[in-house]
Order: sequence, then structure tokens, then C-alpha cells
Amino acid sequence: MNNRQIINITEKYVANTYARFPVALVRGKGARVWDADGKEYIDFVAGIAVNGLGHNHPAVARAIRAQAGKLLHVSNLYHIEPQSLLAREICRHSFAERVFFCNSGAEANEAAIKLARRYGAEWLGGKYEVLSTYNSFHGRTLATLTATGQEKVRAGYDPLPTGFRQVPYNDLRAMEAAIDEKTTVAILVEPIQGEGGVVVPDRNYLQGLRELCDDREILLIFDEVQSGMGRTGKLFAYEHYGVEPDIMTLAKALGGGLPLGAMAAKEKVARSFVPGAHASTFGGNPLACNVGLAVLDTLLRGGALKNCVQMGRFLENRLEEMRRRFGFVRDIRGQGLILGMELEQDAGKIVEDCLKAGLLINATAHKVLRFIPPLTIGKKDIEQGLAILEKVLARQ
Ligand SMILES: *Cc1c(COP(=O)(O)O)cnc(C)c1O
Repeated sequence: MNNRQIINITEKYVANTYARFPVALVRGKGARVWDADGKEYIDFVAGIAVNGLGHNHPAVARAIRAQAGKLLHVSNLYHIEPQSLLAREICRHSFAERVFFCNSGAEANEAAIKLARRYGAEWLGGKYEVLSTYNSFHGRTLATLTATGQEKVRAGYDPLPTGFRQVPYNDLRAMEAAIDEKTTVAILVEPIQGEGGVVVPDRNYLQGLRELCDDREILLIFDEVQSGMGRTGKLFAYEHYGVEPDIMTLAKALGGGLPLGAMAAKEKVARSFVPGAHASTFGGNPLACNVGLAVLDTLLRGGALKNCVQMGRFLENRLEEMRRRFGFVRDIRGQGLILGMELEQDAGKIVEDCLKAGLLINATAHKVLRFIPPLTIGKKDIEQGLAILEKVLARQ
């Protein structure tokens, strides 16, 4: 089928929840993808930070093939080898001591919220409220969209669950003032706001939140669904700040393209989940977890994390050059290979023009071009993508 044929079927039968670009992508390799008409693109989107290892990575394909020939699914009524091994790997390389597996970022945050509430019920006299921040993004379930600090994701869904409030991001005073001694059980933040426009907090923000949580004896939850799994140049973004959360959520790149989410926690918190307290049929599925293992291995031992640091620097420098050249570029920010270019104007038209010229790039928070390419991307692909972007920007 060609682009048009696929688009026609999508438009007739698929729920109308996305404003899709008029291309159907059918094949990928590394940081390149091809559409159904055979046109090639450089991919600076990577499935919104999902394809950390790029498309068609041999380690991912190998892990899928090996597990597909063995066992695809059994229930969590039984022990699952790749799940046990992946939980151990996540704990070995993070602050966490126990992991709950699920299938998406929203579900991971849902698990974190539920665990925080159970912990509050068990140890903190029934505290339940979760404080989060404006312009955050935590998912689309009823609880996680209520934690999300954006009106547009909530419109039309009243009544929303209670027990959530937001304050400005990167504002310690506001967070401190918002804590209700009687009800607040946890603070939930992204170490870098992804959907909110690649917003990097001040160095002392996460540290300040940690101190605040210690002082008030409440929980600190980091939503690392986007910033985790190597995206910032460290396995988890919190590692840049010398602080540890009590709970962390992962998804997006964890499964290398398969649906896999995780909620990782310190034992003192995790033990509030007892048999029957929470569950997920597909969570920790053998196939997804076997790929998760391959992803971690490739990041840590296969050089992908190192490449992210190097290419992140390279890309950031090149974006800085573009900022000096184009007066309407306001700011370049981010860490590793999650970088944002804030413009004076809406970025929608630029994204469309880039697509036509063979570059997939995403805009978030209206004015911010977001660069979240595969962590395995090389200089040549970066240069080729930037050459397209430069041409498009020069026409503005
Ligand atoms: C994408 C994202 C989510 C939601 O993940 P889904 O898999 O779409 O449910 C949650 N938090 C952050 C920070 C994200 O970037």
C-alpha cells in the first residue's frame, strides 16, 4: 500500500485522537525511516523518545527472535525469568530496590500514585495528595491526567479524581508552600519536563525537593518516562543531580519499541504493595522484558550511552551556532539527546516543512522544536538532519 491508501483507511477506521502528519512510516534503520511511498527521512523524533537504540537495532531484533521462539506470555501467577533479570538490572543501576512492571508511562505513574497512597494509608495517617507541576506531563489515565499540569488534557473529563494539585515548576518556595501537612503524601516531577517544552530546572531544584520531602517525611517521585533510559547521557536523569527519589517511573525507551513500563521504588515504600494490591496482565511480559534487558545491556555495555553524551554535545553545539545565526531562535536547552530550540513563533509550520524536506522533528509547547533522536545516532545523520532544518529556518 502507498501513503494515500493507508491514510484513507486510518481516517475512516482509527479513533480520531491524533492530528497525524500525512505519511505512513513502514520501515526504519538506525536514525532513518521510510514511508510507504519510499521516501527517506532522518528521524529526530524516535517515536517520541521510545526508539533509544534507533530502528531495527540488531540487539533488539535478536532479543525478540530469541524470546519469540521460547515463550511469549504467561501470567504473573508464575515467575518469569526475563522479568526477574530486568528488575535486578534496574535495581543494580539505580537507587531502587523493587520494580513493578506495566505497559506504559501512564500505567507506571498510576502505579506510583497508588503506591504512594497505600504508603500514606499505612504509614502517614491517611495522607493521599500528590503535588505536581504546571506544564508537566504524566499520562492520559484519569489519575495521571489529573496530575498533569495542562488544562488541555483534562478538558471534558469531569469529574476528575481528587487528591492532586499543581504548582509552578522549578519553584521550590511554591512547592514548599503547597505542602499540606494533613494530606500531602508525595511530590511528583519530571527531572526535565519533556512535553512541557524541554524545561531543565535549576541545579538545586531537585535537591531542594529531596530536602523538602525528607523534612516533611513525604515521598519524592521522579517521572523518568521520557528522561530515563539514557536520554540525558546518564541512565537516569536524576543521576546528574546527586539526589535519589523514593519512586521512579519508566516507560518509553525501556522496551526498545515494545510496550514496557516500570515503577521502581525503595524497599521501605515498595513493601506497601502486597499480593493483590496492584496488578497488570501484560506487565512484565517475557518478550517485552527480554528486549528491556537487551536495551539496558546496549546502553551500558554496547556504548549507546557514551554515544549519547558525545552526540548530545555535538548536536547542542550545532544548535547554538544556529541560534547565533537565526535571530528568532530564543534559546537552546536540554541535556544529552533531549534538546529544545525555543523559537519566537509557533513551530508548527517548520515541522511541516521539515517533513516535506525529509526530516522528522517534533514541536512541543507550541514554540519549542524538540530534538530526541536515537541515542545511537551518528554525526553524519545529525548533519544531514540539521542541513534540512537550516534550509527550512533560512526561509522563515
Ligand atoms: C510520554 C510520557 C508519559 C506517558 O507515557 P505513555 O506511555 O504515553 O502512557 C508520562 N510521563 C512522561 C514524562 C512522558 O514523557
